[in-house]
Amino acid sequence: MSTIVETKTSRRVVYVTQGMPTEDGAGVKLTRLVGTPELPDLDPMLMLDTFRSDDPNDYIAGFPPHPHRGFETVSYMIKGRLQHRDNKGGEGLITDGGVQWMTAGKGVVHSEMPAQTGGAMFGFQLWVNLPAREKMTAPWYRDIRAEEIPNVALSGGASVKLIVGQVGDTKGPGPERATTPLIADVAVPANATLSLPIPDGHNAFLYVFEGALSLGDDRRIVETGELAVLSDTGALTSAAAAQGGRFLLVAGKPLREPVAKYGPFVMNTQNELRQAVNDFQRGLF
Ligand code: MN
Repeated sequence: MSTIVETKTSRRVVYVTQGMPTEDGAGVKLTRLVGTPELPDLDPMLMLDTFRSDDPNDYIAGFPPHPHRGFETVSYMIKGRLQHRDNKGGEGLITDGGVQWMTAGKGVVHSEMPAQTGGAMFGFQLWVNLPAREKMTAPWYRDIRAEEIPNVALSGGASVKLIVGQVGDTKGPGPERATTPLIADVAVPANATLSLPIPDGHNAFLYVFEGALSLGDDRRIVETGELAVLSDTGALTSAAAAQGGRFLLVAGKPLREPVAKYGPFVMNTQNELRQAVNDFQRGLF
């Protein structure tokens, strides 16, 4: 008979930020939460943007064709329609609750355009790093419809829409990766509690987009619009609160490799970045 050692550790909130407002693409107004001077990356996650507006002027210009190399982009639309097209034949339209997962690998040119002329648009884009040995892998694309994403009910009353990673016996539809990413949309109703294991040593952070959470043993309050970076050991726990909340949870095994970034290219060295720019300019993507 084997003995199961249960840890009672809860992750602590070690840092809170509201990110910075910025523009990207052809003039899309967004908030950069990770990938800022304040918070350059959270290995293996390189960037997290959120866009949320019901004014088409804030999003209609979209992200016309542009290149990427060396990592993956994961777009999650809570509300709205986003069309993806790339020069490797990848194409997909996602609507409310859907995900686009693109591996840029050795190079891709893609566009990401709103497929609506009005109404609310609310979503995220996360950049997931690839290990050095996989940065020049073949590009890959798939979209994941909302119906394909399992909604796992937890014992304390919370529920987890699992995009990628494992919760209990349930696996999300996202691809398996060396960094074993966990990306989930977690809802904690009023007066519910949460205890969600995250492998020790994996970096984790969350962004609250509804209500507020009371996190960790010290019951740190994290409110709508705040990104909380968690300590690296133990489960994510939330105490019962009158209000409840909903958040995007992101975790992954750190690569601990050098990161060299230049706009849409993320490699390990300056030489590799120069090569990426040259290859793109010579039409090799
Ligand atoms: Mn892009």
